[in-house]
Amino acid sequence: MTADRSSLVDLRSDTVTQPTPAMREAMMAAPLGDDVFGTDPSVNALQEKIAALLGFEAALFVPTGTQSNLCAILSHCGRGDEYIVGQQAHCYRWEGGGAAVFGSVQPQPLDHAPDGTLPLAQIEASIKPDDAHFARTKLLALENTLGGKLLPFEYVQAATDLAKSKGLQRHLDGARLFNAATAQAALNKRSDIRAEARRIAQCFDSVSVCFSKGLGAPIGSALVGSREFIARAHRIRKMAGGGMRQAGLLAAAASHALDHHVDRLADDHALAQRLAQGLEGIEGLTVEAPHTNIVFVDLTGAAQARSSELLASLNSQGILATGLYRLRFVTHLDVDAAGVDRAVAAIRAFFKS
Ligand SMILES: *Cc1c(COP(=O)(O)O)cnc(C)c1O
Repeated sequence: MTADRSSLVDLRSDTVTQPTPAMREAMMAAPLGDDVFGTDPSVNALQEKIAALLGFEAALFVPTGTQSNLCAILSHCGRGDEYIVGQQAHCYRWEGGGAAVFGSVQPQPLDHAPDGTLPLAQIEASIKPDDAHFARTKLLALENTLGGKLLPFEYVQAATDLAKSKGLQRHLDGARLFNAATAQAALNKRSDIRAEARRIAQCFDSVSVCFSKGLGAPIGSALVGSREFIARAHRIRKMAGGGMRQAGLLAAAASHALDHHVDRLADDHALAQRLAQGLEGIEGLTVEAPHTNIVFVDLTGAAQARSSELLASLNSQGILATGLYRLRFVTHLDVDAAGVDRAVAAIRAFFKS
C-alpha cells in the first residue's frame, strides 16, 4: 500500500475523511466547558443548531451513530417492547444487537422490497395485538438513505402515517440524512437541502444524524426529538458511557460541517455517477446506478471468484475499497475526479488481464 495519504484513493467509506484545515481551526477556536455539567457552549450551540435545522425541540450530541440509535430505541421502548425494522437496517444488523442486549427490546425484522422500503402490508401485519403472548410493538425504525438508496418521500410519509395511526413511535436512522436530502432535492428540482432534510425528519418522532460520514467531521452524531424524549435519551447516553467532557472540540467540527459541508454533498453524488458510468460495460461487472455517494458493484460469472484478487490489486495501487458482500465504493470530501478516474482505469486494467 502507498504510504503517502495524499496519493491514496480511499473509497472504503465516507467515514475516512480527515478534518479540513478550516474545520481544525474551528475546533481550536471552540469555547469549551464540561458537557456532563451541561456547560459546554460549543456542544449546546450544536444541539440547538441541529434541533432547529430539523424542526425539533431538542438534540443530544453523542459520540457515534450506534450510540445514537441505541439511546433512541431505549428511549422509545422498554423491556419486553418491540421495534419493527428492516433486515438490512444498521440498527438491527450492524450494531451488535445492542437494543436487545442492553434494553431487552426485541427487534421484529422485515425483508426489504428491492427499493429498500418495508412494504406497508408487512409492517401492518407485524404489529402484534395487545395480548400476553406477544411483545408490545412500540416503534417503527426506518433508515434513509439505506445502503445509499433514497427512500421515496411518498413512502416515508405513508409508512410513518401508518405507524402513527397504529400508535407506534417512529425513529429515523438518518446517518446519511443530508445525502438523502440532496438526492431528494435533485429529484424534485429544489435547491434547499436543509428544507428537504427537515421535510423528511418531520415525518418522525426522533432522528439520528451522523456528522462523521459525508459531512466530514472526525467524530459525532446527534439525536433529535422532543424535550422530554431527549431527557430520557440523555440518561441512557450516560449509562452507555457517552457523557463526554470538553466535547465542544468535537461539536465545533460538527457545527462547521453543518455550515460548510451540506451543500457540497452533490459533488460526492456526481463523483459516484462518474465512477458508476466509468465502470459500465466491463464484462463480469454489474453496477447498480447510485442515488447518492455509494456505488455497489457485483461481480458476475467467472469474475465472482476474483473479488479478493481485485481488491488486493487495487490496494497495491493505493486504491482502497471494501467487499463484505458486494464491492462497495464510497465517494466523499477527500476523493476527487482524478482519484475516481484512477480507480476506474485500475479496475478496467484488472479485467483486461
Ligand atoms: C454509520 C452508520 C451508523 C452508525 O455509525 P457509527 O459508526 O456508530 O458512528 C448508523 N446507521 C447508519 C445507516 C450508518 O451508516
